[in-house]
Amino acid sequence: MSRSRIPESLRLKVVAQFQSRCAYCQTQQQISGVRLTVDHIVPEALGGATMQHNLCLACWDCNLYKSARIAAFDDVSGQPARLFHPQQQSWIDHFQWSPNGSLIIGKTATGRVSIATLKMNRAELVISRQLWTQVGWHPPGN
Ligand SMILES: [Zn+2]
Repeated sequence: MSRSRIPESLRLKVVAQFQSRCAYCQTQQQISGVRLTVDHIVPEALGGATMQHNLCLACWDCNLYKSARIAAFDDVSGQPARLFHPQQQSWIDHFQWSPNGSLIIGKTATGRVSIATLKMNRAELVISRQLWTQVGWHPPGN
């Protein structure tokens, strides 16, 4: 969570850049009905700036689980890996949807550690994705 107040004008730029979606789990603000947070990708506790290049939209749970982390241990490679950086990396390079759209699958170590750390396949979110898929609201387009 941010310690600094995010000016509304900067928040609006971040909302537009990330198309009102969580930059991590891709949950869309319009269908979740919950205002997304602004996340410091590199946390302020680690020197991250309150500037657009270090900010992204995140749902409350992704932001909470990410906390002040920037890396985690990847069980597959046996090495630490950086968490996904939404301003410097492309989501589709690190993640993909399962065939039915309910799960996010990591394509890289960064993808895997981000999914695990942020709990991007939380049970309640998987159920919502299944419902959203049935009415054509999910997965989000590019
Ligand atoms: Zn999220």
